[in-house]
Amino acid sequence: MHEMALCRSIIELCREQAEQQGFRTVKTIRLAIGTLSHVEPQALEFGFDAASRGTLAEGAVLEIERPPGQAFCMVCEATVPLAQRFDPCPRCDGHQLIVTGGEEMRVKDLEVE
Ligand SMILES: [Zn+2]
Repeated sequence: MHEMALCRSIIELCREQAEQQGFRTVKTIRLAIGTLSHVEPQALEFGFDAASRGTLAEGAVLEIERPPGQAFCMVCEATVPLAQRFDPCPRCDGHQLIVTGGEEMRVKDLEVE
């Protein structure tokens, strides 16, 4: 399951950061989960609850940003918004698109104690 694997890597990252920076508790985790990634924020929050139990990130709040999908259209030679991965270009209806945004899944920031 996608979300559980992501939760585990988030917690792993918290551990590494805690070792480097010497904090004990993670209060807030700010994440960027692009709208084109296959991660459901709700499933992520749910999975995180379970995965973080007994770790330094237990009880941490997830603040999830949703960067919108974006692609570069080779026909229009322009960056266009992309609601879904395999949607055509909203300008020319073509499919010569390179996804440039909205696929990211990353931790932006940790608030720690
Ligand atoms: Zn186009």
